[in-house]
Amino acid sequence: MTSEDCLFCRIVAGEIPAEVVHSTERTVAFRDLNPQAPTHVLVVPREHQPNAAALAAADPEAAAELIRTAAAVAVAEGHDDDYRLVFNTGERAGQTVFHAHLHVLGGRDFTWPPG
Ligand code: AMP
Ligand code: ZN
Repeated sequence: MTSEDCLFCRIVAGEIPAEVVHSTERTVAFRDLNPQAPTHVLVVPREHQPNAAALAAADPEAAAELIRTAAAVAVAEGHDDDYRLVFNTGERAGQTVFHAHLHVLGGRDFTWPPG
């Protein structure tokens, strides 16, 4: 997949609008279009990788920065201690966009196990 075909590569490149809330050298964080909680932000690596495991294998520092950015977003949104981070991997797990992304969800109670 090239960046022209990938929705999140195009958001990173500024070709498709998104509400960016945070950005770092290796990551961009923007609000999910279809939020599942009062705070629902996606943190994506600038580099295209199809999922979190591929990102961690190719660029461990970018994977770590994704999690650090997610924590910074949670704190900035007022959810210092209570938030959920999710990586969906594969269609059966609910992955619909095949550019690695970390969901940051906060602002409500969550149940376990997830659906
Ligand atoms: P996943 O199902 O884990 O692959 O997550 C993909 C997420 O991307 C979903 O929560 C969608 O609501 C979200 N999404 C899809 N298109 C956009 C967009 N253009 N801007 C922001 N979020 C999007
Ligand atoms: Zn991409």
